[in-house]
Amino acid sequence: MKEFTYRALPGHIIFGGGKLQSLAEEIDRLGCTRVLVLTTPEQSGHGEMVKGLIGDRCVATFNQATMHVPTGIVDEAFSVTEAANVDCIVCIGGGSTIGLGKAMALRSDLPIVAIPTTYAGSEMTPIWGLTENGIKKTGRDQRVLPTSVIYDPDLTMSLPPFISGPSGVNAIAHCVEALYSPDANPITSMVAEEGIHALSSSLATIVNEPDNKEGRAKALYGAYLAGTALAAVGMSLHHKLCHTLGGSFNLPHADVHTIILPYATRYNANAAPEAMQRICRAMGTENAAQGLYDLNRSIGAKSGLKDIGFAEQDIEKAADIATQNPYANPEPVTKDGVINLLTDAFHGVRP
Ligand code: NAD
Repeated sequence: MKEFTYRALPGHIIFGGGKLQSLAEEIDRLGCTRVLVLTTPEQSGHGEMVKGLIGDRCVATFNQATMHVPTGIVDEAFSVTEAANVDCIVCIGGGSTIGLGKAMALRSDLPIVAIPTTYAGSEMTPIWGLTENGIKKTGRDQRVLPTSVIYDPDLTMSLPPFISGPSGVNAIAHCVEALYSPDANPITSMVAEEGIHALSSSLATIVNEPDNKEGRAKALYGAYLAGTALAAVGMSLHHKLCHTLGGSFNLPHADVHTIILPYATRYNANAAPEAMQRICRAMGTENAAQGLYDLNRSIGAKSGLKDIGFAEQDIEKAADIATQNPYANPEPVTKDGVINLLTDAFHGVRP
């Protein structure tokens, strides 16, 4: 067996339908008494629900969490925190809301209780992101890792199908790249394979029947595993391309992940046979890239970059940005290879 070093991350995970009810107990267990509740404007209702559940432990709310964590919003949230002398941050929402909590923890060391309501997986990682003057910086810091995570699938029932599907494929992408990461080990690979299985077998169900409780629970379990895999190992070409397309061309995060994944998988197919075998086994398919492409069709995902506002003449520029700095990837990353990948992804052809 391959030797490995694995830094398992701490975290208290509570999973199950209705488990939001255990939030007050969890805050008490942490010894916290002055809570700030964070949400996006769209999820203010979830914030009010939390406030009702924790009573006077809630001393402040902030409902302006924004995609990609602009520093101006962090400053605003921080002044609320200081005025209310907060000792704990509760984030209820997707990666944007949890991202705001992380940016605040980076400055303050405050503990985070995360209640994820999408499948992005940020709640399991020590990865932070911050956007200043249109440029997004990311980094790793143990201080931003949530202390506790409450996964309550009931809260995901309201996630619309057009967000649920791509958000779930975004989570699958974490698992796919975890399988061929240079830091992969038997534990992270087992987690990633199970994550792909849980997500790929539930996404079509929840897109077609958003109220299906079993499907929602399975998808959220998969998202938990995907976040765990993302936290433990480095990502490669797929995430680099998505970061480039999202950051430099302002394309929607989860849709980009969904469109690119089958092509990034095909790019690495010959160089990462064991990862492909695991993806096939998890999905019950004979070809990993095609299986992922077919999954996208089954959830009604947008098929090509042409459908989400990307211009064909920007392919070369995107390839330049994505190949500027070297990074680990099973198949050597070349500009021509990336241009071919993006051209196929632009048109949405079957890989
Ligand atoms: P998001 O948090 O931006 O949410 C998308 C929209 O869906 C928001 O309006 C939100 O309020 C709404 N929403 C979320 N849950 C809902 C629910 N249950 N019902 C109704 N509406 C709901 O999207 P996301 O995909 O979760 O997160 C994307 C961001 O997270 C990106 O900025 C990405 O870079 C970041 N991210 C970070 C990490 C990390 O480890 N740091 C990991 C994954 C993603």
